[in-house]
Amino acid sequence: MSEEKEYYNVADIFGENVFNDAVMQERLPKKVYKKLHEVMDEGQDLDLETADVIAHEMKEWAIEKGATHYTHWFQPLTGVTAEKHDSFITSPMPNGKVLMSFSGKELIKGEPDASSFPSGGLRATFEARGYTAWDCTSPAFVRQDAAGATLCIPTAFCSYTGEALDQKTPLMRSMEAVNEQALRLLRLFGNTTSKKVTPSVGPEQEYFIVDRQKYLQRKDLIFTGRTLFGAMPPKGQEMDDHYFGAIRERIAAYMNDVNKELWKLGVAAKTQHNEVAPAQHELAPIYAECNVAVDHNQLTMETLKKVAGRHGLQCLLHEKPFAGVNGSGKHNNWSITTDDGINLLDPGATPHENIQFLLVLTCILKAIDNHAALLRASAADVGNDHRLGANEAPPAILSVYLGEQLDDVLSQLISTGTATHSLKGEKLETGVKTIPDFLKDATDRNRTSPFAFTGNKFEFRMVGSQDSVAQPNIVLNTIVAEAFSDACDVLEKADDFELAVHDLIKTYATEHQRVVFNGNGYSDEWVEEAAKRGLPNIKSMVDAIPAYTAPESVAAFEKFNVFTEKELVSRVEIEYETYAKTINIEARAMIDIAGKQIIPAVIRYTTNLAKSITSVQSACAQADVSAQEELLKETSSLLAEAKNALTKLAEITEAGAAMTEGREQAVYYRDEVKSAMDALRAPVDKLEMIVDKELWPMPSYGDLIFEV
Ligand code: ADP
Ligand code: MG
Repeated sequence: MSEEKEYYNVADIFGENVFNDAVMQERLPKKVYKKLHEVMDEGQDLDLETADVIAHEMKEWAIEKGATHYTHWFQPLTGVTAEKHDSFITSPMPNGKVLMSFSGKELIKGEPDASSFPSGGLRATFEARGYTAWDCTSPAFVRQDAAGATLCIPTAFCSYTGEALDQKTPLMRSMEAVNEQALRLLRLFGNTTSKKVTPSVGPEQEYFIVDRQKYLQRKDLIFTGRTLFGAMPPKGQEMDDHYFGAIRERIAAYMNDVNKELWKLGVAAKTQHNEVAPAQHELAPIYAECNVAVDHNQLTMETLKKVAGRHGLQCLLHEKPFAGVNGSGKHNNWSITTDDGINLLDPGATPHENIQFLLVLTCILKAIDNHAALLRASAADVGNDHRLGANEAPPAILSVYLGEQLDDVLSQLISTGTATHSLKGEKLETGVKTIPDFLKDATDRNRTSPFAFTGNKFEFRMVGSQDSVAQPNIVLNTIVAEAFSDACDVLEKADDFELAVHDLIKTYATEHQRVVFNGNGYSDEWVEEAAKRGLPNIKSMVDAIPAYTAPESVAAFEKFNVFTEKELVSRVEIEYETYAKTINIEARAMIDIAGKQIIPAVIRYTTNLAKSITSVQSACAQADVSAQEELLKETSSLLAEAKNALTKLAEITEAGAAMTEGREQAVYYRDEVKSAMDALRAPVDKLEMIVDKELWPMPSYGDLIFEV
């Protein structure tokens, strides 16, 4: 990029394209602003008159930012966001001019065709009606890009009959569940001032960056987001020189642009660094309210991809773009906080005395233990199957890391019934006089745990990098709400509250101790130990899916009106379909690439080789051509193996595509199609190591990850 570098003050641009509270306060009449806050904070109904005023001001503001169109911005079950743009223009007046208008009705309700989005049987094609409804708790924003400027209004998406067809609706229902049950619990502890409890989320986004020109030469990346062939480069991540390494200029310029775009959209992008694998990076925002964090993460993923194009780069969000190289995840940091700033997960300096915290903590242990399979399912996506349990990400077994301090408190509780002390952080002495000593934390970190307590939050580390974080948070909110509710049921009836709380904490800690694990989650011993403890180890998405409709899941979701059983059944259907479709596309991409690019290239190579043997021999009858002959033999036999595997993969895939959609088809794709894909990849990757680099039809792993 040869442009002049532009320097700016972040505080000046932060949120400049967001219709946020400050803008609303400034632009809306006092009465309207107050009314809107009643809707946002207390869930009151919004009347059309108020909506009209808000819509008008929103439109005026958006037009000042250059907006020509508006869109309801929603998250159907496709994994990405959807939008349908309408311009603000009205029908031309007699004088030929147009007015720009945007009504309250257009703000609060939209009607996209519901039959074109996945509904898992909830909507037949002829039952097309679906609605989008404004989520006024997530601010509207203006997005400026090549398409011009568009006012985006975050919305929920439901069918005509009221079933949720998106991520946001159940997410907001689950936030409401935590709010209600956590307030119940707080009241029992004498809190009369907090009015609202909200889950907060900070998702750490990992991604790969490759050169766009090279990306465009890889049909597998284009069609599936991951490489389907590729021999390992001579160098991998074994030198540990990429993690936190200095960020190269080209990447730094890209990150700089990404941050600026995100800041303008009010996304508090905070931390960026190189990740473990070459070409891998991370971006973490400052945490936000759950639904806003989910929206912002979608915006972050969109922005990462969009801005990459401007720098001649391509952003890969897939969990496993390169086999044999670390994949990408998205750590979901989660806590629950009151409107007056109390974090329910803050243990304080002396956790053993903090009875409310201990109850919250043991409720969470219970929730995770009882619903381990469901939480695992919430992180299932096709790409994540390559990661979980592969010694680069947490295992597929759910356990909770508490750290020494809390583990010690719980042990005291379990053995004696009361906890009398908390381990303290000691002084860390560096041994260097000029470096001041400091107090270290009472607890070390554990990177191998799928659900780790990190000071005042839990970090759920199973989530895949390209997945929405809605699903994990829907599950977390719901199962924790259920545990709180169970505890309140007991405590509200207790004669002696103090005694009852102590008993309950001890009971929960004892009954659910098996889910606590502070050791190395990547080790084989843990897999064995977990099996002994009876913890589920669900390795594939296909086997994780049924947890959604297990009786205990249905009971929890229905109790808190997060999902009806019908909605759950529909989601299960969508997940199976998504699985089979994704593998089907991968298989077909392999067939295409192997048939049209790789095999012809290998044939060219063998033809050259054969010609060279004859020409060498005709030039010198005594010449030793055994090396060429050996190469030709080896290449031809790998070629034959590849060709056979290709024929087989084509047959197997065709049979899979003909099956009825559902579990059986998904299982077939996992067991049959995937092995046939592996069988084709193996000889091709060997051929890549033999055939001339000039003849090989696509950039290698080394070209992709070391030459950005
Ligand atoms: P780490 O040391 O685990 O990387 P960070 O402080 O960098 O911790 O946080 C990682 C992510 O967790 C960030 O997105 C951060 O905003 C978020 N986070 C921090 N505190 C909380 C909290 N109380 N609730 C939810 N997310 C949080
Ligand atoms: Mg972290």
